[in-house]
Amino acid sequence: MLKAIIVGGGISGLLSAYHLLHSGASVVVYERRVTRTPHRHCTGIVSKETLERIPFASKHTLQKYNSIFFYINGYTPFLELYSSSYFAYRINRVEHEEKLQEVLLSKGVDIRFGHEVISLVKKQSGWVATIRDWLRKDLYRDEPFNFAVIAEGFSGRIAKRVGCDSTSIPLIGLQKDYKIKGLIDEHALYIYINPTVLGLGFAWLAPIDTHKATIGVATSLSVSPARVLEQHVTKFFQRSLRAFILGEESQLYGGIVLMGYPQKVIGVDAVCLGDAVSMVKSVSGGGLYAISYFSQMLPQVALQYDNATMNRMAKLLNQLKRQYYLKVLLWQGINNFSFMLSKVIRWRTIRIRLRSNSYFDEHEKILPGFIFETLKNMLKGKLH
Ligand SMILES: Cc1cc2nc3c(=O)[nH]c(=O)nc-3n(C[C@H](O)[C@H](O)[C@H](O)COP(=O)(O)OP(=O)(O)OC[C@H]3O[C@@H](n4cnc5c(N)ncnc54)[C@H](O)[C@@H]3O)c2cc1C
Repeated sequence: MLKAIIVGGGISGLLSAYHLLHSGASVVVYERRVTRTPHRHCTGIVSKETLERIPFASKHTLQKYNSIFFYINGYTPFLELYSSSYFAYRINRVEHEEKLQEVLLSKGVDIRFGHEVISLVKKQSGWVATIRDWLRKDLYRDEPFNFAVIAEGFSGRIAKRVGCDSTSIPLIGLQKDYKIKGLIDEHALYIYINPTVLGLGFAWLAPIDTHKATIGVATSLSVSPARVLEQHVTKFFQRSLRAFILGEESQLYGGIVLMGYPQKVIGVDAVCLGDAVSMVKSVSGGGLYAISYFSQMLPQVALQYDNATMNRMAKLLNQLKRQYYLKVLLWQGINNFSFMLSKVIRWRTIRIRLRSNSYFDEHEKILPGFIFETLKNMLKGKLH
């Protein structure tokens, strides 16, 4: 029988435990956080398909969206993506992780909070872990496991030790919930891109309802993200959406928003997933799409390597790599040309109807439509 150690009890570790358990494996999850309450860091926006792939997520939705407005260095939207149906959902990540923990614990999964994996070494008998117990303040060794799942989140220290590898650019992401009065459409997402102020990052306004929204920022520049949020981003959204911030509804929360892609996710009797190997959609920093997909494949990867699973996995990893390069190209393009273009062309918002709701995850598929609509705008004689 497969006996797996899971390093990290965030969303990647919990979903891995869930799927391995259902395939009959025995799992032990080590989570360094002392409390059971999950760390609040993520906005929780996912596509409809991702929502449906994550067990219990649909029970924890906060809002749904059918359009996204992109602002590039200006107060009128540059691009609107829309659909007649809802294609993105926001989930309460803390409540959802608590639900997953509850289900796993009720099925007898051993989740050890306050236990940090210090090292993981492959012996002939299997993986032997050295654990620091933060509650009892001691170190101990755990019995050999025949499979290891590394879901430790960003830094990927243990992931590298078991032979996994990735390319990552960490951005600092911070957000806050605000009480708002204004013209915001509660079913629209608002994204603001300005490489001069935010570098490779971006800012977002994600409504919770018509009077409440989360405003956040992710930046690659060495500036204080909290200051950029307060002094630039909130002002930007107030002006562009003609909204007023009436008060704060939360403290600042956030963490590392990654750009990158996994290079190697399978070691000998080990698999790495999630932020540990930059398993993210680089354009948005969203991790849940690939985590939900990859964790479903884990039992096949761990128990029997079949060609169909390996092909699906390779397809996903290639997609993430393409999205990384797309992001780098897009941001370079915006950085170099948006100011020039705004001087030459009187932009009207480019509106693109999503041909499939899955394009929310498959960003690269929007590109041809975007180029076509941009050229159409230019040829329609909007030159000064
Ligand atoms: C501001 C912000 C907004 C975001 N918004 C979105 C969004 O809207 N949509 C989306 O899809 N994604 C979003 N993301 C990204 C998403 O949150 C991450 O991709 C996802 O949470 C990664 O999950 P993970 O389980 O891989 O890592 P983590 O959530 O970091 O979990 C790793 C866990 O491992 C534990 N751990 C680490 N080392 C050890 C060790 N040695 N031993 C034991 N335990 C260990 C940690 O304590 C932690 O609990 C956002 C991220 C941020 C910061």
